[in-house]
Amino acid sequence: MKELQRSMEAREMYFANLSWPEIEARLKAKYQTVLLFPVGATEAHGPHSPLGTDSIISLGMCHRAVRELEDDPEVRALILPPLAYGVTRYAGGFPGTIHISEATLQALIIDVCTSLSRMGFPYIILVNNHFEPEHVQTLHGSIDALIAETGVQVGYVDLTRRERAQALTEEFKKAECHAGRYETSLVLAERPELVDEAVMQTLPYVPVSLVQQIGQGIKEFRQMGLNLAYNGAPAEASAAEGEMIYGILTNMLVTAARELVHGRDGRDLPGFYNRVALNPK
Ligand SMILES: [Zn+2]
Repeated sequence: MKELQRSMEAREMYFANLSWPEIEARLKAKYQTVLLFPVGATEAHGPHSPLGTDSIISLGMCHRAVRELEDDPEVRALILPPLAYGVTRYAGGFPGTIHISEATLQALIIDVCTSLSRMGFPYIILVNNHFEPEHVQTLHGSIDALIAETGVQVGYVDLTRRERAQALTEEFKKAECHAGRYETSLVLAERPELVDEAVMQTLPYVPVSLVQQIGQGIKEFRQMGLNLAYNGAPAEASAAEGEMIYGILTNMLVTAARELVHGRDGRDLPGFYNRVALNPK
């Protein structure tokens, strides 16, 4: 299994591992290359899971999507260097959380995607797993600006949309999903060495719905009742469940990549979290 995983981490999966002639060859290929832009945050994820949890999950989705499209005659994928910083105020009271402003995030996404579009790559998908409303809203704003200004096709699977969440696990549907069973399972499936399983097993269930708390206008984890920067039930996490969830997430991502190339959008419109953020009480 270890060996298999190593071979899947092939050099060709990553944009930045290639040389410029290899990128040139990609641009001239018969198939279309969709660039996957992994986005996350560096922020507190409980006492058991790494600060980079969200980026690790985004990369896990990207790895699996690239593999699934590896021999596709029409659509292939390549992973851009990840953006491991996000708008992250809720976890700001915990050491390790690095916040960047909405303006910085938007400018960075627009600059990177504009540069790639000028290079000749018309298809990019933002692969995000940090769900703070102001962060998700900024991603949508960046996509709107890019489409209006450059014509680059930017896809996005917004997991905060109801129909997306419905396809995921019970914990995710209840929005008890910050470093809980859902996220911890995904990290266990991708980077098991980064989860402190001894600590994980001692953590009690924290039944707090982020959607409810955010809906009430609360914007800080401790005030929400996430005293150790997690909710849900991390003690119940497993790599097997993580792999099962990756199956669903990867399917969504691959479908979005195909839709993007075939001119059928591939971009979700803002969901619940965004409406909350747009209408603050
Ligand atoms: Zn997270």
